[in-house]
Amino acid sequence: MFERVLVANRGEIARRVLRTSRRLGIRTVAVFVEGDELHARDADEARPIPSYLDVEAIVAAAADCDAVHPGYGFLSENPAFARACADAGVTFVGPSAQAMELMGDKVRAKEVAVAAGVPVVPTYSLEDARSSTAYPLLVKAVAGGGGRGMRVVDDPSGLDEAVAAARREAAAGFGDDRVFVEKYLPRARHIEVQLLGDIALGERECSLQRRHQKLVEEAPSPAVSEELRKQLNDEASSLALAAGYENAGTVEFICDADDPREHYFLEMNTRLQVEHPVTEMVTGLDLVECQLRIASGESVESDGELRGHAIEARVNAEDARWLPQMGTVLRYNRPPGVRVDDGIEEGSVVGGDYDSLLAKVIVHGEDRADALAKLDRALAQTTILGVVTNVGPLRNLLADPAVQAGDLTTALVGARGLPEQPSSLDRVARAAAAIEFAELGAGDGWRLGGQRAPSWWLLQVEGDEPFEIELPAGTPTPPGWHHVRDADTLWLAHEGHVWRVREPAIEETQHAAAMGTLTAPMPGLVLSLDAAVGDAVSAGQTVLVLESMKMELAITAPADGLIERIEVSAGDRVKERQILVSFA
Ligand code: ADP
Ligand code: ADP
Ligand code: MG
Repeated sequence: MFERVLVANRGEIARRVLRTSRRLGIRTVAVFVEGDELHARDADEARPIPSYLDVEAIVAAAADCDAVHPGYGFLSENPAFARACADAGVTFVGPSAQAMELMGDKVRAKEVAVAAGVPVVPTYSLEDARSSTAYPLLVKAVAGGGGRGMRVVDDPSGLDEAVAAARREAAAGFGDDRVFVEKYLPRARHIEVQLLGDIALGERECSLQRRHQKLVEEAPSPAVSEELRKQLNDEASSLALAAGYENAGTVEFICDADDPREHYFLEMNTRLQVEHPVTEMVTGLDLVECQLRIASGESVESDGELRGHAIEARVNAEDARWLPQMGTVLRYNRPPGVRVDDGIEEGSVVGGDYDSLLAKVIVHGEDRADALAKLDRALAQTTILGVVTNVGPLRNLLADPAVQAGDLTTALVGARGLPEQPSSLDRVARAAAAIEFAELGAGDGWRLGGQRAPSWWLLQVEGDEPFEIELPAGTPTPPGWHHVRDADTLWLAHEGHVWRVREPAIEETQHAAAMGTLTAPMPGLVLSLDAAVGDAVSAGQTVLVLESMKMELAITAPADGLIERIEVSAGDRVKERQILVSFA
């Protein structure tokens, strides 16, 4: 086994890799970018680097190490990085650079799959796509990842625009603008197989996604029979053999939601995945330990058994629309008794430089129903205040009858729209008032003749109209609520759901939202302006593109109109709700 390993990553995955390395008695070295030190405290040594993408700096930092573990994202699928490690005499914990090169190219990977007898999604050349009757089609980046560089096209007239958009996103995201076209399965399940070399460890179901990115993952899949499991395992294994694949990797399949036996190879991820813990919980293996053992020349084994059911929920800095949010973590309570892989603590600043994954809550149950119940309970006991997270929306999603029934498709999350707040506004406002009252009442000035006075409040719950409330004297703070104050905002949490409450200024309450403006739905960077002052735009037309936390969002005109003013330029950073464009 290695004596000294450098972990070339950050956040929850760096901490998770460091944990296993230390358990194995390995000396650990972390790298960190200034201002992003949390994970580095878990290592024996920490070395500063300019960026997690800086190959030269990371290889230099690893000079006295035996191995580098790349985690996921960043340089984990970069063959040049694997080669640079090898050239420096440091083992890259992963497959060979050649295997990464081959399988990282989605088009070449499909050719390997075809040669290995694995069914693939039909692919079209641009010319064929133009005259095809197989719509809807999907334009995809050859080098894509993280759900980026992908566009669904419903008919040939939308093809050129989709290709241009996918190319732009791919060039910006991966430095490679090549795209290809494949058949789009509108009712699909995403089912993937975990590999260690050519040993297949069974499947994970990852159909609960937003914007083609996973949100909740489980093992085993509720839709996979013993027979299908064996087939998927065998296919993944043949693919690994055909690609000369070593170490951990994942073969992703897209399946017909109504009959998952109709399945097609989608892509291979040549690294550890975000959702690897669910496989660990049903197999009893520590996949990071297996990766390190394989890389150091040892062999690993699996008895092939899957025990019980595991589910993971990704806790992201995002709101009920699954859009990125930023802030400072002011309160963080982990749920007790379950596995939490996290990269935050109280005081952590969640900015726009990294993706929005803050923590993963992972549970294991006897069966799926047990695991679902445990996950819901764990999320209800997760409190994060100071930055908006998807904990509440995840609970709503888990309660969905289709999710409960295991009737999943990749379109399910998107089709649900905005969930309703589970608690009436009245209850939230009364809670806010009561907490406020209790706090103020504890001092003086709010008591009349030794008695607490009844109080009247004008409050505004984020996203709603101001609200008047009268609170009888002595109203107690209701149990089970958490709160923290941040300037004029009171953050309130109850069973995983969070509300921001303010006392609005009187002028604000009389000032209706400005008509005819387009505001930023999330904080971020203006990537491009796609329209100019004086342009007549039609409803749905892209006016500009915002980027935040590795996600691009096209801001479109709400109605037909004439652009009167544009308040921002490409390259500007904008705040949530900042006015971007006004219409005449
Ligand atoms: P998984 O397939 O492991 O579930 P994702 O596809 O969500 O994971 O991506 C894993 C992580 O890697 C995320 O943090 C994502 O932002 C990042 N990521 C994925 N692909 C790329 C890429 N090509 N370049 C940079 N980061 C990427
Ligand atoms: P990435 O490299 O970004 O992970 P994938 O090819 O794995 O890209 O696709 C990500 C997700 O996009 C899939 O899990 C699925 O939801 C959707 N998707 C990709 N290809 C198809 C397809 N041909 N038909 C339907 N959905 C697809
Ligand atoms: Mg994928």
